[in-house]
Amino acid sequence: MFSKILIANRGEIACRIIRTARRMGVATVAVYSDADAGSMHVAMADEAVRIGPPPVAESYLDGERIVAAALMTGAEAIHPGYGFLSENPDFVDRVVNAGLIFIGPSATSIRAMGLKDAAKRLMEKAGVPVVPGYHGEAQDIVLLASKATEIGFPVLIKARAGGGGRGMRRVDHADDFAEALSSARREAKAAFGDDRVLVEKYVEKPRHIEVQVFGDNYGNVVHLFERDCSAQRRHQKVIEEAPAPGMTDEMRAEMTEAAVTAAKAISYSGAGTIEFIVDASQGLRPDRFWFMEMNTRLQVEHPVTEMITGVDLVEWQLRVAYGEALPKRQDEIELNGHAFEARLYAEDAAKGFLPATGTLHHLWFPDEPAPGTSLRVETGVREGDTISPFYDPMIAKLVVHGPDRETALDALGDMLAETEIAGSTVNTAFLAALAADPDFAAGDVDTGLIGRKQDALTAIPEPSEGFVTAAALAVSGLSETASPDDPWSALAGYAHFHAAPKRVALRYGEQEIRAAVSVVNGKTEIALIPAPLIPPHKGMGDSEAPRLSEKETHESKRSASSLWGGVRGGGNPPPRLARWPGHITIFDGPVSYMFSVPDPLERAEEAGGGADSLRAPMPGLVKVVRAAVGDTVAKGQPLLVLEAMKMEHTIAAPHDGVVAEIATEGSQVTDGATLVRFAEAGE
Ligand code: ADP
Repeated sequence: MFSKILIANRGEIACRIIRTARRMGVATVAVYSDADAGSMHVAMADEAVRIGPPPVAESYLDGERIVAAALMTGAEAIHPGYGFLSENPDFVDRVVNAGLIFIGPSATSIRAMGLKDAAKRLMEKAGVPVVPGYHGEAQDIVLLASKATEIGFPVLIKARAGGGGRGMRRVDHADDFAEALSSARREAKAAFGDDRVLVEKYVEKPRHIEVQVFGDNYGNVVHLFERDCSAQRRHQKVIEEAPAPGMTDEMRAEMTEAAVTAAKAISYSGAGTIEFIVDASQGLRPDRFWFMEMNTRLQVEHPVTEMITGVDLVEWQLRVAYGEALPKRQDEIELNGHAFEARLYAEDAAKGFLPATGTLHHLWFPDEPAPGTSLRVETGVREGDTISPFYDPMIAKLVVHGPDRETALDALGDMLAETEIAGSTVNTAFLAALAADPDFAAGDVDTGLIGRKQDALTAIPEPSEGFVTAAALAVSGLSETASPDDPWSALAGYAHFHAAPKRVALRYGEQEIRAAVSVVNGKTEIALIPAPLIPPHKGMGDSEAPRLSEKETHESKRSASSLWGGVRGGGNPPPRLARWPGHITIFDGPVSYMFSVPDPLERAEEAGGGADSLRAPMPGLVKVVRAAVGDTVAKGQPLLVLEAMKMEHTIAAPHDGVVAEIATEGSQVTDGATLVRFAEAGE
């Protein structure tokens, strides 16, 4: 076996490869960009080499530097992971020419499958079913349009160099063909530098079912059954599973045979995936699946195959690349139970799946499977790590296995509900809604399912009064759950037994929340103070909190424990919550509610008042500055707006005074940086 390999990747896949290599006694070299210097894959590897600045073109896509790092560290082989250079035949040539081994297929195999049109022609010749369509070289619009009519609408125009769904257009009517063609071409040109397309039948009620194949250097090819990746959002996989729901023995036999034929046609060595599109309008039928493309690498969703077969695909990759024969014959590979994988992302599902960034101040994954099931978390981040804007914002893949689909799906639902992440916006609730969807649960999936139900799947409920109260209580520092030595509550600077009501202010989205909390006879009491919706930019410090009349106070006052009792679920335990700088996140199953605490001033005031400077409660961007050096300002006057964690926090004057120093508009500030300093008397 190799004694040392280099992993030309980052994140969860780099960590996953390191784990197997370590188990096999193979030393590992990580490569990293400046953005990843402190990341998990670097910490896990035996050695690490810096390859450049954060942009991928100057780091993870720089094949020359990566090969140099391998030579410098004495690595004998390079594992590319997925993405980045994994399907780049020129990189394979570079690796081989340097006298190293590429852990993956030959450059020739990758080239054969690299372009969709050529791959389809090749597959047609090998006798693999291909979607009816035109995959020829000629590209003039009249010919393509007539081919589309011949195929019959709806058709799909695809960039031959395509990937990630780019350069792809569905066309329903002949009249729309010309326009769709030019827009697909523009997109393909921009994304791949190649505007050539193919046209194929648009498959109705399409399901995406792919077969894992594995070849060695001796002509052996096996399959490891299928995965269903039909749960897609804009052609991006969301939850994958193995085996495919509703798969029949007959159809599986035909599909896996076609997949092995496809791999043999290009003398494939290593791990690969043959993707098929299936017309499921009449259930799964052996005459209704067609070759779509081959991925000549390890897939993101490979763990579901590992879970149902017990095979470590990375181990096989290393063995085959080293020159060993496939560890198992076809008849030795068995399918057991059912597995799911959910892709947990830092993204805002409710805002059109906008990618998110942030520091994962709190990160916890369940690790106790229900009897008969198993759980696996594939991640490349730890608590405290940052999701940067430079790379794919995937946080983890949550993988479950159970004896049957229903049990495995229940386990996935539980796993999503128990996962806790605070510090970034995450898609946990969306994944859980999909896992709980009746059609998905019934196995009635097709690639349009998510799109049809997107609004329902991404809707986030408002936090209940119980959660709002719990958040306010946590902010007050008077919570029964707050530990006296918790640095966060220490920061708040409150004694644990207060006679006078403590007023707290927090924010949920654009809603301001105020509450009065007091400890009476050892019992915590809290009253939410009804407040009008204050438009954004107008912060907490702008005005005095409305005073409560005796009656209001009395009516809305409740004991903390009775409020917790009213929380969804009905139990007594307080809700799960995470405190992080300037924030409280409350977890309600897979849904999380983020409250921010935009009042560093109140804290300063409580701590004795008269603070002569204001510090940033968290790292952020000084978005607006509303005062200048020398200005005389009044208590409560807004001085600047700090944007942090995608929210705006108004910083107002804690007392009357003269501004001696103030942060510059547009500047980035770190946690604790001085935002405003007031002049001393006589200054
Ligand atoms: P890309 O390489 O850009 O990801 P693929 O060819 O793999 O493109 O197709 C991506 C997805 O588009 C598939 O998973 C499927 O959902 C959908 N798709 C592809 N071909 C067809 C087709 N002929 N009819 C309907 N949907 C299709």
